[in-house]
Amino acid sequence: MNRDYYEVLGIPKNATQEEIKRAYRRLARKYHPDVNPNKTEAEEKFKELSEAYEVLMDSEKRQMYDQYGHEGLRSSFGGRGFQWSDFSHFSDLEDLFGSVFGSDIFGRGFGNNIFDMFGGRRRGPPRGVDIQAAVEIPLEDVVTGVEKEVRVTRKENCPQCGGTGGKTKDDVKVCPECNGTGQVQKVAQHAFIRTVNITVCGRCGGRGKIVEHPCEKCRGSGFVTKTKKISVRIPPGVESGTRFRMSGEGEAGPGGRGDLFVIIRVKPHPFLERRGNNLYCELPISYAQAALGTKVQIPTLSSSAEITIPPGTQSESVFRLRGQGVPSLNYGGKGNLYCKVRIKVPEKLTAEQKELIEQLAGTFNENIEELSFMDKLKSKI
Ligand SMILES: [Zn+2]
Ligand SMILES: [Zn+2]
Repeated sequence: MNRDYYEVLGIPKNATQEEIKRAYRRLARKYHPDVNPNKTEAEEKFKELSEAYEVLMDSEKRQMYDQYGHEGLRSSFGGRGFQWSDFSHFSDLEDLFGSVFGSDIFGRGFGNNIFDMFGGRRRGPPRGVDIQAAVEIPLEDVVTGVEKEVRVTRKENCPQCGGTGGKTKDDVKVCPECNGTGQVQKVAQHAFIRTVNITVCGRCGGRGKIVEHPCEKCRGSGFVTKTKKISVRIPPGVESGTRFRMSGEGEAGPGGRGDLFVIIRVKPHPFLERRGNNLYCELPISYAQAALGTKVQIPTLSSSAEITIPPGTQSESVFRLRGQGVPSLNYGGKGNLYCKVRIKVPEKLTAEQKELIEQLAGTFNENIEELSFMDKLKSKI
């Protein structure tokens, strides 16, 4: 059972990014395994803190968590829960441990202490490339949320050699240049400060292995390109342009998979326009309908609704249909549907219709021939 992220960091639900950062740094310093006698317990605690930090510093993830709790993040970390390789805030720690464990940073190099725990983002072969895919959904699907499939073409481990790149197992050897780490260290000494630069091994390209007789299917790369369908759960209330990260669904690489970013595009609706969580529409009615009153059926996103236009309704009057808007992704609840009445004037009239309208105007003492707006204003003063 996961603990509440806000509780883990000891911060209120409305904490700012600055407050989250401060809380994380304070606790990370306290629970860093290097300064705790019980390393295993401290490491677990440190991982829990970092998971909470990773989620709450990412506005998309935080929104999902605020609305759906841990359930909302189930697919976020590749469906396998938070791993150190998901942690993307190394830079926030570097300076922290740079001051607390200053000599360590320079003396031993990152690879030998804290970053050993991070599952190889800094050390070892590089991860696969992140990829992007777009999904288009109609506005109706925004109300209910929807499960969609995206087709992605990406590098997969070669099925013939299992990603090793060798014709047989014996054709794959540990790279003698980097001893299989995929990286080479170069130490530079400037006055009293020793700096360790870590770069990708040139001999094996970071894979840590070299292939003597390459696999025929993938020509030794270890990868083949495949198109795959991936299912994406889109929550209710998404806006056009929202981006979801699916960890571990990107391209395969020697050090694991990259991420897949899915961008949601919401198709415009023919009748309803969305602004925030509210919907807007325009309803053309005739002069007679406005003057005498009527009932109109209008489409909503879920079905349809009836609006009662009372007698004497003016052009530009707005009718509100409560809760017929779009659900909020962040706060729950739904927006409203606003319907603006516009009175249509006939563009062509028969002789008979023209006469009838003139008669009608006469009953209101209206002068059709000539209209002086200034006279009207004066008569009102
Ligand atoms: Zn192969
Ligand atoms: Zn190498």
